[in-house]
This record gives sequence, C-alpha cells and structure tokens, in this order.
Amino acid sequence: MQVRVPLAKRMEVLGTETAFAVGAEAADLASKGVKVYPFHLGDLDMLTPKHIREAATQAMNEGKTGYCPNAGITPLREALAEDVGGARGLSLDGGNVSVQPGGKPVIGKFIMAFMDPGDEVLYPNPGFPIYESMIGFHGGKPKPYGFIETENGFALDFESIERQITPATKLFIYNNYHNPTSAASDDAEMKRLAELCVKHDLIVLSDESYFDILFDGQAKSIVSLPGMFERTVILYTFSKKFAMTGWRLGAAVGPENLVSVISRFNVNDESCTAQFIQWAGIAALKGPLDEYQKMMSTLRERRDVAVEILDSMNGIHVAKPQSTFYLFPNVTEAMGHLGTKTVEEFRKKVLDETGVSFTTRNHFGSPLEGENQSYIRLAYSGIGVEDIREGLGRMKELLDR
Ligand code: PLP
Repeated sequence: MQVRVPLAKRMEVLGTETAFAVGAEAADLASKGVKVYPFHLGDLDMLTPKHIREAATQAMNEGKTGYCPNAGITPLREALAEDVGGARGLSLDGGNVSVQPGGKPVIGKFIMAFMDPGDEVLYPNPGFPIYESMIGFHGGKPKPYGFIETENGFALDFESIERQITPATKLFIYNNYHNPTSAASDDAEMKRLAELCVKHDLIVLSDESYFDILFDGQAKSIVSLPGMFERTVILYTFSKKFAMTGWRLGAAVGPENLVSVISRFNVNDESCTAQFIQWAGIAALKGPLDEYQKMMSTLRERRDVAVEILDSMNGIHVAKPQSTFYLFPNVTEAMGHLGTKTVEEFRKKVLDETGVSFTTRNHFGSPLEGENQSYIRLAYSGIGVEDIREGLGRMKELLDR
C-alpha cells in the first residue's frame, strides 16, 4: 500500500531535463524493432581512454576507497589549477579549486551560495535546463536572455540582457560554447559582456563544459578579462573532453573566497567525490591527449557530414559551429512543408516517419516573447558517420517529398 506523502511546496518549481523523455520515447520505438538514429542525448559513444580507466582501477586496488578531503585530494586540485589556469592565462593553486561529482552540481551550489530568495538571475534561454530549475527551486527570479541568429551561428542578445538588469540582479550565468546553440562569443562580444558584469557588480557562473570541444582557434574564457576572475566561478567538467560523462567528475574553479563557500556544500552533501575517480582525473589531466585528439577529429567529421546534409534539406538552414557537439538548425520553413504547426509536432512526425530522434528548442526553456523562428537540436556525440548519413538522408527524403 502506498502512503500519500505531501511534498514540500518547493517541489512544485523543481524542473527537469525533458530531453531524457525523448530518449525514453526513442528507446520505446527501438524496442518495437524500428531503427532509431539517436541525435537526442549529449552523451559520447566513445570509451574513456585506457590510461584513465587503468588509473582508477589501480587507485581502487591501492585502497584509495575511503573518505578524502571535502574539497578534493590535493594533487587533483593542484593539477586542475595548473590546467584550467594555464589555459586561461591565470596562475592558480589548489585553493582555487573545489572538486565536484560532475560539472552539474556546481550550478545548484553556486546558486545556493550566492543567491537570496527574490534575487534576480540572468541565464541563457535556450539553455541548459538546470539553470532555471535551480534558480526557481531556491526562490530566485529567473530572467531568461536570448540569442540572435546570424549568418555564422548565434550571438548574445544584448538588448534582452541590458533590458533585464535591475538593482535586484545579482547573478549572471554565461555558457560560452553554448548548449544547445553552440554560440561562441567573439572577442568583442565577450568584452562587452565582461564590462556589463563589472559595471553592475554581478557574480558570474561561467559554464565552461565545452571549453575543450573547440574545432578551430583558441578557446577563451571570460575570466581572462579585466575585473572578471574575482567575480566568477568556472564550471569545469571531465565529462566531455575525456569521454567521462558517467564517472561524475568536475570542479568549481575561481577565487578562493568564492570556491571555499562551494566546498561547504560538499561537506553537507556528498562529503567528497569518490577518491579513486579523482586519481583517474589526475591521469586524465597529466596523460597523453591522443585519444582526445582522435575524438575531436571524429566529432569534426560527424559535424561536417551532418551540416552538409541538413543544410541541403528543403526548408532547413544551419551554420557550421566551431564548438560543442550540437547543431541547432532553423526548421521554421520545413515545419510548413510537413504541415506541422508546432516544433513538437515536427519532431514527432520526423521521428515516426524516419526514426531520426532529436530534441527541440522547447527542451531548453520556454520560448521567449517575440520569438518567431523554430529550431531543433541534433547532438552528434552518440551517432557514427554512417548512421548520420542514413538517418539524415531519410529526413531529407521526407522533406523533399
Ligand atoms: N552544463 C552544460 C551546458 C551541459 O551541457 C552539461 C551536460 O551536458 C553540463 C553542464 C553538466 O555536465 P556534467 O555534469 O556531466 O559535467
């Protein structure tokens, strides 16, 4: 017998990642014998490099299985300080690092640490759904800002950012190399944003999950700009660069006075990240990068093939992004060709008729006022080139019919 348990009021505003529901739908279809082309989830179909796996088993066999310091083991904190700081032109030490069980926990901990109920938080929409979920759950006021589609991809909508900054705005969430649009700020855009954050004295979460998933050029972080490091917490993750999504290893990196507050949640929450996983993290940071380079060339090939086919489809256009493993094509016209009124209807029709499974703009937040274009998101992290060709070929046929 089930007992009716009244939930805490705040559970009404806890969000979720609705993309997982698309995965369940695709799995259901596959179980009925339909061939599904999985463009929906941002997971990698590549094995974590061998030297990292071996470091974890070695650590386990050496007995590194007990509790360890809340903020992480010193050698990992130091390795992260060197790696993350070095790539951003900063000289950091272990005190600038709080190890986390994944990148995701940094989001909630950052919000709990620096936001009071009623504070306003600017965050990207479309964007990673956990920002809005955590802001609302902890009693803040979520203020979504959008992006503008350009010939080369997407740019920050400064009009929507500037219009929404008020004296109650406390935090700004920035996800350069952005999920789902792959937006990457150029120098001018990043500088303009940094100046705004300094001017309005905002505390910034810089979600740098895709910092290392960059195909061309040099990755840049807003913390390298004047006045920014001291007000910013970087979300760092091992998930993407080292194909370690399921290991759950990440970190908050930033000035010691901000990062040490984040570590206080470690004490109250998970106590520490699994120690043998942290030793594997050291092997990842200090080991060879040939598997990472191989992954990047695999992803590049997938991106190029997918962009070419998508861009040739009737009523679809997409720019070739330089970062992440997502494509965010505009499908507004294609929806009309298929006689579908909403992007969700479009998604379902394409899935049912071709097996091509993807998420849409609506899985990354509610559309903003005045938004009149429709987009879908295709992740090419978990699908090989042959299936990309076959699946998108089917989708093209459907749209050409
Ligand atoms: N932030 C963004 C923008 C992401 O896309 C993801 C994962 O997809 C995360 C954070 C969290 O990743 P993880 O918890 O695996 O580090």
